[in-house]
Amino acid sequence: FARARQVFGAVERALRRGVAAAQGRVEVRNVEIGEAQRRPDGQGYGQPAPGSPPPARDPGLFPHPVYSTPHVAEPVPTGPSAGGGQAAPRSGARPGAPDTPFGRLIGQYRASFLLLEDEEGLVIVDQHVAHERVLYDRIRAQLAGAPAPSQRLLEPLLVDVGEPRAAALERVAPLLERAGLEVDRFAPDTVRVSAVPPDLDREGAARLVEEILERATGLDGVPERVTELLEEELAAGLACRAAIKVNHPLDPAKQRALLADLARTANPHRCPHGRPIVLRLSQEEMERRLGRR
Ligand SMILES: [Zn+2]
Repeated sequence: FARARQVFGAVERALRRGVAAAQGRVEVRNVEIGEAQRRPDGQGYGQPAPGSPPPARDPGLFPHPVYSTPHVAEPVPTGPSAGGGQAAPRSGARPGAPDTPFGRLIGQYRASFLLLEDEEGLVIVDQHVAHERVLYDRIRAQLAGAPAPSQRLLEPLLVDVGEPRAAALERVAPLLERAGLEVDRFAPDTVRVSAVPPDLDREGAARLVEEILERATGLDGVPERVTELLEEELAAGLACRAAIKVNHPLDPAKQRALLADLARTANPHRCPHGRPIVLRLSQEEMERRLGRR
């Protein structure tokens, strides 16, 4: 028991030292930031002017972080050198309340990535692969159930795929039909596409049919397994072509809807081809790389 108490005492002392050191470091950091923001350069870093209307409820695109947290009053430096901005120190501030399953939405970056913050730090979501994952799960579910909606083409599409691939159509036509693609063999080396899913254009449909036929010629083995592989391939191909692209502006409501849909998928972190969807930059790593740790 005496030995145990000794050990406990030593651990406790070490902990106290650690806490004291951490507190000291936090204080030093606060001073640093406070000074940086009081530079008399006239730049307020987005601090609203006194008497300006309160920030809008919706953060919208690229909101300045200062607008999204309540302003904390700080002693105003006196003297002629005092600048306009005296925001509270930022480092160590808590993240805003999460308003999506991935944290608090900050906005869309370069019309291609969704930026969020959570307890750990910054969260970056690739909007194309996120949507691809959402559509992939939906298409897989559709392939297992009723035929997908389909639009008849005014002018059927003839695709020259070569004889071996055209011959494989027999095996994949029922699967294509369940996905909303009506395809038949038009000539020994040509297939005809007469109907496509509503969100697929002619060019995309032609490439997709070609890909699936190519895949079907290379697949041998247990028929059930082959069907499953072809379903995966078809769903991934359809999802990629129908998903929103990068450089595509989304309003905040759509950004939130996409994140909510993504959170409900089987795997919100990997796209069907294995690409990552979510990238994280922790506060710790950020501070380390900025020389704050
Ligand atoms: Zn893609």
